[in-house]
Amino acid sequence: GFKTGIVGLPNVGKSTLFNALTKTAAAQAANFPFCTIEPNVGDVAVPDPRLDTLAGIAQSKQIIPSRMTFVDIAGLVKGASKGEGLGNQFLANIRECDAIAHVLRCFEDDDVTHVDGRVNPVEDAETIETELMIADMESIEKRLQNIVRKVRGGDKEAVQQERLLKTALAALEDGKPARAVEVDDEDKKAWDMLQLLTTKPILYVCNVDEDEAATGNAHSDAVAKMAAEQGAAAVVISAKIEEEISQLEPEEAEMFLGELGLEEAGLDRLIRAGHELLGLQTYFTVGPKEARAWTIPIGALAPQAAGVIHGDFERGFIRAETIAYDDYVANDGEQGAKEAGKMRAEGKSYVVKDGDVLHFLFNA
Ligand code: GDP
Repeated sequence: GFKTGIVGLPNVGKSTLFNALTKTAAAQAANFPFCTIEPNVGDVAVPDPRLDTLAGIAQSKQIIPSRMTFVDIAGLVKGASKGEGLGNQFLANIRECDAIAHVLRCFEDDDVTHVDGRVNPVEDAETIETELMIADMESIEKRLQNIVRKVRGGDKEAVQQERLLKTALAALEDGKPARAVEVDDEDKKAWDMLQLLTTKPILYVCNVDEDEAATGNAHSDAVAKMAAEQGAAAVVISAKIEEEISQLEPEEAEMFLGELGLEEAGLDRLIRAGHELLGLQTYFTVGPKEARAWTIPIGALAPQAAGVIHGDFERGFIRAETIAYDDYVANDGEQGAKEAGKMRAEGKSYVVKDGDVLHFLFNA
């Protein structure tokens, strides 16, 4: 599955947010029970109102949302890259994640200590980024030493690796994260395999006070500006509100959100933003037994999409009966869509679109 690591300085609201994420009704909505793999790893349902609509039309007995994983990576502090305390373990945890959700303190509260004694989320973001950049530089230097011999021996892979590592190092030494480097298509795979911390996509999570959740504040505005300049994503959220909502029944939660002037829970926005950040999209399988959402990378071909359900579906793929979400809804389900000529038979080279309702035919 896809993993997003939650990072941030101490006392910014990470735990509050993580607890809300994993306790919320959405996390438990799925039919298989919410599982905590480790205390700091949470498996959450990706909220998607389209799935409920489809299940309503098909009168599906079960609704199974797709899921993604959040990891609470506490303890990233100034000096983490130097291995102070448990720093190195935290960095290893981040390395395993596909994306980073960076929680920034955008709330003022004299009772909650800030590690640097002042609220400045843009500087906080730089502090963490600097740690990650230092960690990348150190790991690159180590790796360059480790491959010297192979490079001398003319090993093609090692030569490519050395070239990419040196490019990344030059950017880092120039004060830029590795994600600023533009990589040629033929190098993409090797580049991703380097698993550098500063190539991971970032989502800034601005944690604001309850009364500013609907509007944001000057701090979150500053973060939004920074994110735009970096080509990163940002969401405004109030971890405290989310914590309260996570303990309410769905109807109560909706009322509470209404009172606060919010259209949906911040967590739903956060999860969806994480999904987008990872370059993921959703397709559906719908029947009387179950309506289910599946996660695939944007650009995935039909056989690859089938493979998410089962390897046999991919190997024996024949075709995918395909109905676009809007056509499925407009024609009141599969039968109606079929009669209206809206069901297409798509082959191996079909690029699946977000919201497609698919039925796979395959050789067992
Ligand atoms: P972590 O160290 O980043 O995991 O931070 P915590 O989630 O433990 O939060 C640190 C403290 O800040 C706790 O006392 C929270 O109740 C408090 N806190 C979290 N979010 C907010 C907020 O939006 N407003 C205020 N005033 N306090 C908050």
